[in-house]
Amino acid sequence: MTSTTSNNGFFDKFGGKYVAEIIRRPLDDLEAAFNKYIHDPEFLEELRIIQRDYIGRETPLYFAPTATKLLGGAQIYIKLEGLANTGAHKINNAIGQCLLAKKMGKTRIIAETGAGQHGLATAAACAKLGLECVVYMGEVDVRRQQPNVATMEMYGAKVVPVTSGSRTLKDAVNEAMRDWATNFQNTHYVLGSALGPAPFPDIVRTFQSIIGEEVKRQAAERNIDIAAVVACVGGGSNSIGVFTPFIEDKNVRLIGAEAGGVGPNVGENAARMTGNASREGIVQGYKSRFLIDEDGQSMPTRSISAGLDYMGIGPQLAALGESGRVEFTAILDKEALEAVKFFARNEGILFALESAHAGAAAMKIAKELPKDKALVINMSGRGDKDIFITSPVFRPEKWKEFLKAELVRLENNEDIHDAEIMTRK
Ligand SMILES: *Cc1c(COP(=O)(O)O)cnc(C)c1O
Repeated sequence: MTSTTSNNGFFDKFGGKYVAEIIRRPLDDLEAAFNKYIHDPEFLEELRIIQRDYIGRETPLYFAPTATKLLGGAQIYIKLEGLANTGAHKINNAIGQCLLAKKMGKTRIIAETGAGQHGLATAAACAKLGLECVVYMGEVDVRRQQPNVATMEMYGAKVVPVTSGSRTLKDAVNEAMRDWATNFQNTHYVLGSALGPAPFPDIVRTFQSIIGEEVKRQAAERNIDIAAVVACVGGGSNSIGVFTPFIEDKNVRLIGAEAGGVGPNVGENAARMTGNASREGIVQGYKSRFLIDEDGQSMPTRSISAGLDYMGIGPQLAALGESGRVEFTAILDKEALEAVKFFARNEGILFALESAHAGAAAMKIAKELPKDKALVINMSGRGDKDIFITSPVFRPEKWKEFLKAELVRLENNEDIHDAEIMTRK
């Protein structure tokens, strides 16, 4: 049976701290500091005020009447994490770790980022708390995710393109680890999901559990009887965050939605728990399930949602999946797009493509559940950020015209004087 916290860094056989000697010291320091401050009333009060006034907690638990009627089963509720400042749940962890780092006397923060959402949340948290911020990002991702790079720079972060390996997320993680090993005296590494070597999975889960704690409280206050909670699973931080307070509550089904991409074959998805291409391994400091080949080398992944497109899954979720406590399902790109449309049209709520995987899973299972019970969807983020992906799908011609016109406008140097404002100190 998997408990809600690790046993010395392990969740059953998964987890651990499989790292080079030079990373052990910063990990041990971090663990000691976390165990101290997480019971320190002053730290907790400071965190609570920031969560309330800066992040905007608590986030609403929204009853979705039209979706409920159309899906014809359980009462649909949506936890609106997308209303958190910066637009997604990632800020919960970024703020928690940055505040902890500050207590530890660190002045410099580093982070890895893939699509840029975690980098963005960390950059915002550093701006808010007055910390220096360096974000490692694969060169390929820097090129693909310019809107997020631009926003990180607005918050004052330095974005460093990583040119090693495949020049994507895993290379950014390696580079961040290297930096940390050399600079840990003044630097904290804010890892972005509930994975990596211990104690990161415990730390990230703790800071994200506020999502589930709020859901539980909101449901109790309104006499909502929850039958199931569904969340999308990339590394696993929003899902473990919303699941944690319900793990011991056997009447509540917990469902994780992975990226099914375009199909079940190798390279077509990012399905670590449901796919036939996944295996156990030890990668980047922890044991879990990964999309790796027989030699332990990473295999290509694919998903329309950048946030779910990762080869590994957090060790606690891997354990909860193997024990059967959390059910996993794979959602195809096209099903996620359908879910974006469904909730936008019927509820006026724009899901992020990641969160739409949870929405799509809910659309499938709502009917299996009794009408007097609730199905809670964790909307991990809002979809404004996805306009460069969704618009080319839903209205390709108009979007192309728009981009061309923008280019012409830029090349004619219109509005260029505005650049002066940003470069001025
Ligand atoms: C990053 C991201 C995810 C996936 O990360 P988890 O650690 O699995 O939560 C999901 N939703 C959104 C909106 C994200 O930005």
